[in-house]
Formats: sequence, C-alpha cells, structure tokens
Amino acid sequence: MKAKELRQKFFDYFRSKEHEIIPSAPMVIKNDPTLMFTNAGMNQFKDIFLGNQPAKFKRIANSQKCLRVSGKHNDLEEVGYDTYHHTMFEMLGNWSFGDYFKKEAIEWGWEFLTKELNIPEERLYATIFEGSEEDSVSRDDAAYGYWKNCFLNPVNHIIEGSKKDNFWEMGETGPCGPCSEIHIDIRDDQERKRTPGHLLVNKGHPHVIEIWNLVFIQYNRKANGELDQLPAKHVDTGMGFERLCMVVQGKKSNYDTDIFQSVIKEISVITGKKYGEKDTWDIAMRVIADHLRAVSFSIAEGQLPSNNKAGYVIRRILRRAIRFGYNNLGIEEPFIYKLVPVLSKNMGDHYPELKSGKDQIARIIHEEEISFLKTLGKGLKMIEKMIEDNRKTHTKIFPGKVAFELYDTFGFPVDLTQLILKEHGMTLDLEGFENEMDSQKERSREDASTEAGDWHIVSNVEGTEFTGYEKTEDIVEITRYRSVKLKAETFFQLVFNKTPFYAESGGQVGDTGVIIAGNDRISVKNTLKENNLIIHIVSKLPSDLTTQFKALVDNEKRNMTANNHTATHLIHFALRTVLGTHVEQKGSLVTPEKLRFDFSHFTKMTKDEITKVEEMANRMVRENHRLNVIDGISKEEAQKIGAMALFGEKYGDKVRVVEFGSSIELCGGTHVHATGTIGLIKIISEGAIASGIRRIEAVTASKAEEYINSKLDSLDEITQLLKSTGNVTENVSKLVAENSILRKNIEKFQAQSAALVKRSLEEKAINLTSFRLISEQIEVDSVEMLKTIAHQIRNSGIDTVLILGCEIEGKANLLVMVSDNLVNLKRINAISIIKEISHEIKGGGGGQPFLATAGGKNPTGIPAALSRAAELIKKL
Ligand code: ATP
Ligand code: MG
Repeated sequence: MKAKELRQKFFDYFRSKEHEIIPSAPMVIKNDPTLMFTNAGMNQFKDIFLGNQPAKFKRIANSQKCLRVSGKHNDLEEVGYDTYHHTMFEMLGNWSFGDYFKKEAIEWGWEFLTKELNIPEERLYATIFEGSEEDSVSRDDAAYGYWKNCFLNPVNHIIEGSKKDNFWEMGETGPCGPCSEIHIDIRDDQERKRTPGHLLVNKGHPHVIEIWNLVFIQYNRKANGELDQLPAKHVDTGMGFERLCMVVQGKKSNYDTDIFQSVIKEISVITGKKYGEKDTWDIAMRVIADHLRAVSFSIAEGQLPSNNKAGYVIRRILRRAIRFGYNNLGIEEPFIYKLVPVLSKNMGDHYPELKSGKDQIARIIHEEEISFLKTLGKGLKMIEKMIEDNRKTHTKIFPGKVAFELYDTFGFPVDLTQLILKEHGMTLDLEGFENEMDSQKERSREDASTEAGDWHIVSNVEGTEFTGYEKTEDIVEITRYRSVKLKAETFFQLVFNKTPFYAESGGQVGDTGVIIAGNDRISVKNTLKENNLIIHIVSKLPSDLTTQFKALVDNEKRNMTANNHTATHLIHFALRTVLGTHVEQKGSLVTPEKLRFDFSHFTKMTKDEITKVEEMANRMVRENHRLNVIDGISKEEAQKIGAMALFGEKYGDKVRVVEFGSSIELCGGTHVHATGTIGLIKIISEGAIASGIRRIEAVTASKAEEYINSKLDSLDEITQLLKSTGNVTENVSKLVAENSILRKNIEKFQAQSAALVKRSLEEKAINLTSFRLISEQIEVDSVEMLKTIAHQIRNSGIDTVLILGCEIEGKANLLVMVSDNLVNLKRINAISIIKEISHEIKGGGGGQPFLATAGGKNPTGIPAALSRAAELIKKL
C-alpha cells in the first residue's frame, strides 16, 4: 500500500466513525510564545482542552505536520543515526472533545490496526499508566480492561509504564493525562522467538517501536506542579505516519518506504553513492532526506532560515544536512536544492503549499548552501592555521575555546573540527568546549527566561470580544489575570470580557493605553495574543479587580498605525500592478512610525518602478476609497471575492476581508475609514532580505511630511553653503571635481617639499662604517609629512638609519626608519630603538622593524631623544 493510500485509509476509517476530517494546521506557530513549532497534533486544540474556546466538532481526525527540534521534544540529534525518528513528521490523530473516551479510543485503534490494516495482533503491545503517588493518580485500570478485551492473549502484551512513558504532557504546564501507547515488534520470527517482544518495549530497539499514542486528557498541570481536573475529558491520539507506513509496507526502516525512497534515490544519482553500502553514507542520506522535508515545509509556510528564533532553528537544520553531505558524502557543491522537485512531486498532492512554493524553496536552500559551504571553507582554513601554530609549540591539544568560537561565530560544527584534528594527530579539549557551550546556554536562558504564573479566574467568561474595530474606548471587566516574570521584572497580564485594544498580530503592533476605575489609572504597555486570548500587559494590578474599567486606547498611536496599515495594502496592490502578480506578501511590520513590507520579486526594483508604485498608491490615497469590511466568511469564500490569501489560517477559521477600492485582502488589522486620511505615502527604502524576497520601507501622513521636509531642509542648507543660486546638482558636481584636482595638487606639493627636506637632511648625514645616520629635529605640520620624508629616504637606495623629531601642536613626535638591508642583515630594529627613546618625550609608540613612530607630551625632550638614539646606533 502506498503512503498516500494509507493516509486516506486512516481518514476513511475515522470518517466512518463520524469524525470530521480536517487539514493540517501550520507547522510554524505564530501566536504562541511558549511554542515555536507544532510538536504534536494537539497543539492547535490546546484552547479547546483548556476550555477557552468551544469545539466546533466533537470528533475530528487529521494528519498534522509536526517538527521536533527544540524545547521539550527534540529529536534532532537522533535523526539519521536511527531509522524511525524524524525532525518533521506527520502525526495521524483522532480526537474527541468531551465526547467518547478510553473505551472507543482503544477499540477503534485496535480495529484500525488489526482489521483494516491486517497487522498481526501477536506483534502488538499496549502500555498503560502504572499510576503516580506524587500526583495522586492511580493505575489506569480502565485502559487495562479495554485492552484486555481486545487482545486474544493478553499475557505479556499489556505492560505497565511509568510517568516518563505513560503520562503525556505538552509542556511544563497545560493539558495532560495518562496515555496508552501501542508498540509493534517487526523483527523476524526467529529473533522474536529468541527474545520475547515485551522485554524490548520502550528499550530503544529499532524494530520494537512505539507507533501510536492514545492520550486521555483529563488534567491541567498548573505552574506550581499540581494537577487540576479539566471540565471535560478528551481523547488525543497521535500515530507516526512514517512508522505506520514502514510497518504496512513490510520495511525495517522509515527511510525504505515510498515516502523517502524517491528522494534517497535522487541523492544517490547526484552523489554517485549507493544507499545501503556504507554506514556513513547511509546516515548522511537519511539526514539529508529528512532535513529537506523540515526545511522545505517551513519555507513553504513563510518561515525562512534566518539568524533568530524559528528562522535560526531552520537554518541549523539545513546546515546539519549540508554538513553531512560535505563530511560523509564529500560533496562540496550545493546540491540539496536539487532535491526539492522530487519532494514536491512526492508530497505536493496532499500539501499543495509544497507545489506552489517549489521554486522559491529551491532558491532559498540553494543560497543557504552557497553561503554555508563558504563558511565551512573559511573555518577549515582557520583550523589549519591553528594546527600549524600549535605544531610549532608542540601542543597536541586544541583549545576548546577556539573550537567554540569557530562553532559560534562561523557556524563551524565541532564534530568536523574534531575529525580534522584527528587527521593531524591532535585532540580537542572537549571539556573546555562544553564549558563554553554551557555558559552560553546559561546566558541565553537567563535572557529569555519568562516564568508565567497560573491564571486567576475572576469571572467565568469564555474568550474576549474585540470591539476595537468600531471604537477605541469601552467599558470592560477583568475575567482573568496572572503574573509573569521576565528577566527579574514582574508584569501582569489581564484578560477582559471585551476590549478595544488591538493585540499584536498580522505584523501590526499591539495597542497601548490606559484602564481607569476610580483613582486607579493603570497604563497598558502592550497588547498581545496568546492562542485566542487577548492579553493586556500592565505593570501593576488595580486595587479592585472585580470592578468595571474604562478602557482607553492611545488614539494618536492607533491612528498613525492605521495609516501605515492601510498604506501597506495600497503598496501591495500597486506592486502587483506595476511588477506583476508574482508579487506575494512575505511579511510585514506596521508601527505608528513606519511600515515595512516584504514581498516576492526577483530583481532590485528600478527607480522608475519605485516611483510608479508610489504614484499609484498615492493616487489611491487621493481617490479617498472608503473602507469596506466583509467579516466572518470562510477562506474559500474570501478567495472567490478575489482576496489575496495569506497562508497560516487554521481550518475552520473565519476570515475578514478588507477592501479599499480594488485592493482586497484578508486582514484582521485596524484601518483608516477612508484612504484620504493617510495624506501621503513616501517609500524610503527598497532592498533584498533573502533570495527572491525584497523589502520596502515607507512612511505616511505627518511622518512622510517630516521626512520630505528634512530632505528639503538639507537641500536648503547645501544651497546656502554653496552661496550660489544656480542648479544645486551642477554646483555640487563642480565642487567635487574641483576638490579632487586640489587634493592631487596638494599631494604633489607635499612630495616636492618632502624632497626639499630630504635633500637638506641628506646633506647633514653622518657616514658610519657601513651606513649613514641622519638624526635631526625638523619643522613639519603633520605626522603624514614625517612619514613621506622617511619613505623617500628609504627609497633612496642608500643604507640609512633615520631619526626624526618634530613638534606638532605642542606635542612631541619621533620617527625611526631603518633601511631594509640593515633590518635584514644587521638586525637593526626601528621598534626597539623607538621604545628606548620615547620615554624622553614622555610617550610611547611602535610600528614595524623598518619604520616606527612615537608620540609624547614633552617636546623639550626631543633633542635628548635624538642624541640617545644616535648613541645607540653608533654602538652597533
Ligand atoms: P518515541 O519514544 O519513539 O520518541 P514519543 O513518546 O516521543 O515517541 P509521542 O510524543 O507519543 O512519541 O508521539 C506520538 C507518535 O508520534 C509516536 O507514537 C510515534 O509514532 C510518532 N513520533 C514521535 N516522535 C517522532 C519522530 N521524531 N519522528 C517520527 N515519528 C515520531
Ligand atoms: Mg520522543
């Protein structure tokens, strides 16, 4: 059975059990500060489990894109070495929200595996939770009973497991509960006879592995570690699709299934190395095939590799793949990008974003490959130099600190460093490296540590109504609050029954303002969204939490932000008209001060194109289009109206369409009532941020006026400085040309006058046995001049030691020049001479063996310095 059919079979089965089949939610998470990537199917339903949001359907089944590369679930280092952990994988799940519970979950899971897929039941094992005294939770007798009814021969096939394996928690806090895992033994009959499977369950054997986890969510873990019963009980199951595929296709490794084989074959073709011939090759091919998926899906969702947060995680995954290609397969050219078409062909039917984003994904991977391969090259050179230096001093241990620096600044992997050192008979001070690594981790933990307390419920109102589209003032009540510690500072987060405050999202910053009750006047410093809650950040709590508050949004800031947000839409529309419909939004930032708009386009915009875009956007401003909003329609309906869709909506989300004339967009932001309010849009920069992605920055309204006025003011100042009424550009060009002629003349005069000084100095030279000595105090007005004279004498071809002193602006300056011959043959060194004599002028200096200078505070010491130098030279 092909992977595609298997996925469909799962959906069909659960559809027959009245489940609604829904598409995967995005893998890159935007609105949850506690999680960067979806790491389990349940993430998107967290609010339903917590009772913050009602469930639309009581039963759901889906296949969810998951990524386990950071935080609580991190399998990155396993990937490639084993055959059943991936970074990105699909998790098949069936869900009950307050509907069926353990009995049906277990029976259906059993039926699907043994009847629908015909997996022999003697190969299956089930685990149940043994209970925990610490949490006062007893053994899961109910689950045991249901499993017993399934298995014909339950002896040794139902195994008790500890909290580690059989109590599922999403994070430090949140919904959780006991779970029952299904494991499978895919070993050959002989092996199975030799060692019974139950002895290998949860023991890390590659052929006795967990495939399905049935989680019975019934608690909420609080910040203090205690468990609260949830208002309703839920089922959350997760089955590794790639593992199931391996079982059904009779393979021993996920990578042998049709999910990965086409990509692995392509790697073989490109590298000329066969999969299955050599361990190190196989590991590398698995790493590359796996990481390609993680990175491609992430880019398809708009999360590009970058230097921070989620982007950095993605960059590191891709770099790991590049490195394995470089190290194990010996490929020093970019090649991973060439695998994107095969991946897209293989998975694009179920995940259309892979198909539509194919070219861009390949381009971005290609660019990353080029730059990281350069890094690898640079790092190699640095290591070689270090090895050479260390060899001179006969050191066999390479400093951990340097290895860390290579890793941290250049992204140069430490295992590669070790490998190279080994080739040179050296070892790495690994402990030193790890110490550096630990202290860096510690530093970043301290920087990022936020500790959120539990929510205190003030009133039992679900969700928050956002009233900020119509008004910026409202009467509100607090429904819950909690304290949050960030870098030793404590804030409070408030949730209201309704709010006029816009929460940061869709690139638009959060509102600020105040809430007032009696004498309490509390400023709202920011408004954020966490899942579906709108959270107001304040630094102190009001004295009475149960009263009504007048909530006032900072109107000025809101209006300026609205100007910029609407301008973003107009610029987007103008870009698509001027450049073409390949322009798609890739990101944006809308603040009261300015706007930033990122979009796909391949080349730098010409000045003419920028002007056209600006003109068109400003024409739409003057046409004063009124805001038209269509709210609460489905994504598909919105697309029919012609709205430009953004990726990232979850299934079932209702969307909002914002229209200004011909500009139609999906958008949850706040806007002007009519475009005329914006007054003026001025684009202030255009540049690249990644391959095929450009960024425009612009200002509007009074900020645009300020920008233009300050440019005009500078122009006025220049005109005044020029003291001329003619054309400014012409005048400035003339000035620049004149300036360059003058500079050349000055250089010429300086050389001439240096030549004069040189000649008079040479006349005063004292001839010693094998060279001449010139030692004089002269008058020049710059150290540069002093050096010019020295260079001329150095180039004269006569072996000379030159000692010069001069006073410039009350300070003493010394110079020592030694002809190259004397440096090389007689070992006379200008640096040691200058060091000897500079204390006479109360100063210090340095330079190179042939030319050294010193500066000091005591010009009266110059003659003494000169005669001291002459003495030294004569002794040589
Ligand atoms: P394991 O112990 O094998 O790492 P887990 O306990 O981390 O599994 P769960 O968090 O219960 O797994 O996830 C549910 C299912 O998802 C697992 O039964 C497994 O089939 C699959 N799964 C988990 N992690 C991965 C991964 N890194 N790659 C592929 N499939 C995975
Ligand atoms: Mg795991």
